[in-house]
Amino acid sequence: MGQRKGEIVEVTITDGVVNESVRRSQSEKIRRVEEHVARMMVQLDPSGPRRSTDATPERVARMFVRELTAGYYVDIEELFEAVYPNEGYDGMVVVHEIAINSMCEHHWLPIHGTAHVGYLPEDSVLGLSKVARVVEAYARRFQLQERLTKQIADAIEEHLTPKGVMVVIEAEHLCLTVRGAQKPGTITTTSAIRGAFTDTATGARDEFMRLIGK
Ligand SMILES: [Zn+2]
Repeated sequence: MGQRKGEIVEVTITDGVVNESVRRSQSEKIRRVEEHVARMMVQLDPSGPRRSTDATPERVARMFVRELTAGYYVDIEELFEAVYPNEGYDGMVVVHEIAINSMCEHHWLPIHGTAHVGYLPEDSVLGLSKVARVVEAYARRFQLQERLTKQIADAIEEHLTPKGVMVVIEAEHLCLTVRGAQKPGTITTTSAIRGAFTDTATGARDEFMRLIGK
């Protein structure tokens, strides 16, 4: 009934929004995106088709589906299965200088930067590599730096229920440097602060900033 190979026709409805694209197989998505990229090339590249760009639509489609938007396919809940009992550690856990490669949802241009994540454990701690995986899962989407910062903090707060969590992201947006304002080197800093970090009396925020070298 007109169903293409590799297509999953199940439709999901989240918060009243019908979403069938999430359920479509990756190979089917690549095929569809490839068609659109090929059409864009016809409009944008006056040199026309040539051997060196033959594979470009497929390469671009694969890059968008498999890499730049790969975060949509990561099961966040599953990342938090790597939670271990806290054996009486009452200090701060800080994972910093986590490289970020994201993409602004307004211009589809790269956002490059670093994330610093700190939390004060309560009953459980998260595998350290998983902190970076959580950052990666949210970064590899169409993003706003503000939303990315908040999503990382919210995920850790919700799944780990620590005493507090703080996330700082410093990033360069190519949409600020290669177009628009054209101000290379401009860094945008965002922070999300939860729990004990919001209470200045605990000193947690200052300690976090010191540990990340700020
Ligand atoms: Zn932008």
